[in-house]
This record gives sequence, C-alpha cells and structure tokens, in this order.
Amino acid sequence: MLGDDNTTEHRLRLLQAEFTQHERRGPGDGRTATRTTSPAPLNINVLDRINAAVAEVVEHTRAATPEAGPTPADETRIYDWSRQHTAHFQPEQQQALETLIYRQGLEHAIDMGDTSVIRKHPCPACGCWGLLWRAAAHRAACVNRYCVDDDGLSHSWQLKTLAHHHIARQFATKSSAT
Ligand SMILES: [Zn+2]
Repeated sequence: MLGDDNTTEHRLRLLQAEFTQHERRGPGDGRTATRTTSPAPLNINVLDRINAAVAEVVEHTRAATPEAGPTPADETRIYDWSRQHTAHFQPEQQQALETLIYRQGLEHAIDMGDTSVIRKHPCPACGCWGLLWRAAAHRAACVNRYCVDDDGLSHSWQLKTLAHHHIARQFATKSSAT
C-alpha cells in the first residue's frame, strides 16, 4: 500500500497556511487602513495553483471512478479521498495516481521556495545527481556537460517526468519485495 505517504498533503497544508497568513497580515496597524490595498499577486497565483491542483485530482479520480462521492471540505484531504476511491484499481492505475500526487508534491514544495526537492532525483538520461531547477523554464536541468541533446543543450525535465521515474522505481521495488 503506497497510500501511506502524506508528503504531498503535508506540503499542501503548509502552502495553504502560508497563503492565508499573508492574507491576514494587513498593510499596517489599522490606523491608515484603506480598502484599496490588494493582496500581492504572488499569493493569488499560489491560491490559483492550489485550486488547480485540487481540481486536477478530483478530475482524475472522477474520470476513473465516476461514483466517487462528494469531495472533502478540507481540500488538503483530497489525496486521501482519491486514494480511498481508487484502492481497488489495477497497479497501473494506482501508479498513475501516485505519479500525479507525487508531482503535485514537488510543485507545492517549489511554490514554497524549496527547490532542493529536485536534487533528490537522478537525471533520467545519464543517472547523475545534479539536477538544477530552472524557474523560468519550469524544468529541472542536468548539470553534466556531456548530458546534452542533439542541439548541444543540457537535458532538462518536466516535473511530471521526474515524478514518473520516481514512482515507477517505487512500484518496481514494492512488487519485487512481495
Ligand atoms: Zn543528465
């Protein structure tokens, strides 16, 4: 059972807390309070991304099991909800869900500014440990100078690719352990 990994849920909880904290922190002590101060755009983006992440899990779950009931009021419980409704699935389907959840965990960590999560993955092409997060491209690039594509550019990877390889390794380990 892989459903005991709550890292993604934990990170979503932190991200949400961070967001609401910033929201509550007003522009001052209240003496000059006006209603014209808008929250920082960054926070709106994070909230958007939280909502999009939750919606993606709900969609993925409902597509596979339309009879899944109402979603939990606490949206950080969405991963548990999804796992509960897909517990009877074939390993391949569970692997797809775990890959999605793991990828969201990486996204939540990076949203909180923790890009070190990238370094815990070997490069899918050369296997070396030295991926660097490129924020603008939203990809993890290999630092091995010999690990390049046909155009001589460093190999770089989307989070979903890293998640795919990571979860595939986990499933392979689990199935050989039984
Ligand atoms: Zn590489």
